[in-house]
Amino acid sequence: MDRVCPAVLALLVTFTSIPSAPAAPKTRFPAGTRAADIDVCLQPLGKVDRAVLTAVERGVTAAYGFTARSLAERPLPAAAYYKPRKRWRADKLLDHLVAEVVPGAGCDLVLGVTTSDISVTKDEHRDWGILGLAYLDSQVAVISTFRTKRGVSRRTSLMRTVKVATHELGHALGLDHDDSVAGCMMNDARGTVKTVDAETGVPCKHEREAIESTLGVDLPDVTAMDWRHVLGR
Ligand SMILES: [Zn+2]
Repeated sequence: MDRVCPAVLALLVTFTSIPSAPAAPKTRFPAGTRAADIDVCLQPLGKVDRAVLTAVERGVTAAYGFTARSLAERPLPAAAYYKPRKRWRADKLLDHLVAEVVPGAGCDLVLGVTTSDISVTKDEHRDWGILGLAYLDSQVAVISTFRTKRGVSRRTSLMRTVKVATHELGHALGLDHDDSVAGCMMNDARGTVKTVDAETGVPCKHEREAIESTLGVDLPDVTAMDWRHVLGR
């Protein structure tokens, strides 16, 4: 058939030519949400020095503009203990936060903080000690101060802890590792805390923009951490 009734053709054209409205990108927060409306809760798992919690709270606020506060301490969950190495499995800690803390805490993000050593299975390593872990694009992350302290001053240890916190929250906010620009927050530590020392602890421009589009929220444009404020000295 080489001829089509004009009416049918019009109908076909109509159906095929109406541009469908582009789907609005799905963001995590409704329009009009400000960074300060986003509530990040630190969940101490076991006893954690108040000075550590304060530094992490201030660092999170400085890097992201979020409101940060600390919840009452909870014990490390027994189910996460890995007896052969006397460490705590970080993925089990994240599961614990998802199941036990997120539902009732009223927080947009929950960051577990512990002084105990934490670990995951990494490649051929059954139990690999780490600085922190987060589920990608989630509400949970966990950090440990255990590996930030060796052979360094308390100030350096605190700076590392704050940087690990902003890095892990970056994962929870949907960012993967990105080594395209050295010194950016989401550089892959590659098993050494020295990488953390080289990071600013705040999102680089492309990292900030990626988070802004995920959240639907503008973040402060900061290029460096104000360590005097964050560390209170
Ligand atoms: Zn990472």
